[in-house]
Amino acid sequence: MSDKATGKRAASRKEMFKPLSRRSFLKAGALGSLLIGGTSAAMLPLRKFKNDTSLEAFFQQHYERLTPGRMERILKRIENEVKERHGIEASVTDPKPIPGVQFAYALNISRCVGCRRCVHACVEENNQSRDPEIQYIRVLEMPNGTFDVEKSNHYYAPDTVPTDGKYYMPVQCQQCENPSCVKACPVGATWKDDDGIVVIDYDWCIGCRYCEAACPYWARRFNFADPEIPKEQINPEMAYLGNRIRPKGTMEKCTFCLGRVRNGLLPKCAEACPAGARQFGNLLDPDSVIRHILREKRVYVFKEEVGTRPKFYYWFDK
Ligand code: SF4
Ligand code: SF4
Repeated sequence: MSDKATGKRAASRKEMFKPLSRRSFLKAGALGSLLIGGTSAAMLPLRKFKNDTSLEAFFQQHYERLTPGRMERILKRIENEVKERHGIEASVTDPKPIPGVQFAYALNISRCVGCRRCVHACVEENNQSRDPEIQYIRVLEMPNGTFDVEKSNHYYAPDTVPTDGKYYMPVQCQQCENPSCVKACPVGATWKDDDGIVVIDYDWCIGCRYCEAACPYWARRFNFADPEIPKEQINPEMAYLGNRIRPKGTMEKCTFCLGRVRNGLLPKCAEACPAGARQFGNLLDPDSVIRHILREKRVYVFKEEVGTRPKFYYWFDK
């Protein structure tokens, strides 16, 4: 047999023995053949897992069905994986929504100077990939006197801001009350949590990107490649449904920094804004700054007509 033919066979065997991720396994329909046929051929993918830990990750249940004991083991496993892959000691926790809290954001457009510090603070806090770079916040530069986003530019040079005749409108996940992304997801990998934050179970997401297409605010980002972050830039304080490092082939987005806000801190973008344009708080607290803004200012929501009911409010001083 020719070398060429042997090489081809070697390549296809290599391909066959590639470890499968849960999503590629499901997408290929292999789960069906495993359950129905139960043949040794169908078991082959499972033999490729290095150890019991990766097998456990493969069969991990949906977040909502995990018991506290199981979750403890998973958090430990993720800490070990971070150490193995990135060489750092991480703390991975699973902060829960606080009863009686509905988070909301308000942004004073008159104050935003378009410096994009919020964008970069968000990238650092949330362990977003630097190569290829992923950003959750998009700052639109708009001509004064228009709300027409078709006329906006988000590739402007930040060292020239603010520019005369322009204003700046940051857009990120609006944590919708009626989120179209959640309705679009065929496997229940994304949902609105009890404090209003729309979350993603990264282990359950199969990367179909329906949610990305459904979101009217361009809020979702897809990991086309394994995220690359220089070791010294990794934020070791990680939340399971938040800023832990996401695998290739999954969706991610802003979660209002749930690991911070469920522990009484502000989202990193609000903390980083040098102009005081960003306000954050509990909609259910009548004394909160958010309630004050809703009472006293003329606020509006972006793309109100699409019916998603964002919990991200914009207002102008005048
Ligand atoms: S902004 Fe988009 S991603 Fe965020 S909740 Fe709304 S529809 Fe979903
Ligand atoms: S890409 Fe979006 S719609 Fe598809 S499974 Fe993941 S979260 Fe659900």
